[in-house]
Amino acid sequence: MSAVVQLEDIHKTYDSGEVPVLAVRGVTLDIGAGEFVAVMGASGSGKSTLMNLVGCLDRPTRGRYLLSGADVAGLDRNQLADLRNQKLGFVFQGFNLLARTTARENVELPMLYGRRRFSSREIHERALHSLDLVGLTPRADHFPNQLSGGQQQRVAIARALINEPQVLLADEPTGNLDSKTAVEIMGVFQRLNDQGITIVMITHELDIARYCKRSLIMRDGRLVSDTPIADRLVSAGEMKKILAAEAEAKLTA
Ligand code: ADP
Ligand code: MG
Repeated sequence: MSAVVQLEDIHKTYDSGEVPVLAVRGVTLDIGAGEFVAVMGASGSGKSTLMNLVGCLDRPTRGRYLLSGADVAGLDRNQLADLRNQKLGFVFQGFNLLARTTARENVELPMLYGRRRFSSREIHERALHSLDLVGLTPRADHFPNQLSGGQQQRVAIARALINEPQVLLADEPTGNLDSKTAVEIMGVFQRLNDQGITIVMITHELDIARYCKRSLIMRDGRLVSDTPIADRLVSAGEMKKILAAEAEAKLTA
């Protein structure tokens, strides 16, 4: 198993306030290609800080980070932005979609901001392919306010997939969703993971973590537990329902 993410004694201290906050305190961790990892822990334990470091949104105070074997420490801001755009996909709790923009156009955005130039036809086709991966082709021309919360999160996932990232990073992606919709979203992630994409997901809900393959627990900035999930739940039925609904919507469209 080749490691996609390698953290060696990573620390992050925030120095902005009166007292420094030791948000991450010496995390060493390997995540291999094809893994599906849940990061758990109480509020304030350092989960989002760790995710931001893995996502190259922030730099560690100390320690070494190799992404696909390459040390990211030497990269400047532009190189980091390129790396994020090409290798990483991000999904957040609030879906962060542009309101006056269709689902397809929202999904296209990372292709427009990347350094590589694509034809509008290629962008269009890849956006539709991405929407297809999350079962949303029939909703491509809908605006966010015409979509349910679960559908909006699926648009955000499609957007994260458009540049075919190696790793999908999700920070509490089901935090704004009811439990049934949350399981649906886990079905989408499981299907993507089955297709080979590596996923690292923060959640504080044990019920949700049980759809992942490995669980990490953070406490006070440290990794205190790292275990495979033996009794993993499968949400395949939920994804089947999504795809069946999509097929029906295609027929009636
Ligand atoms: P979690 O995601 O597990 O809730 P965070 O990583 O957001 O935890 O926060 C870890 C600690 O770092 C908390 O004490 C939080 O208040 C602090 N923290 C997070 N972001 C910042 C920041 N930008 N500046 C200062 N302190 C921060
Ligand atoms: Mg957080």
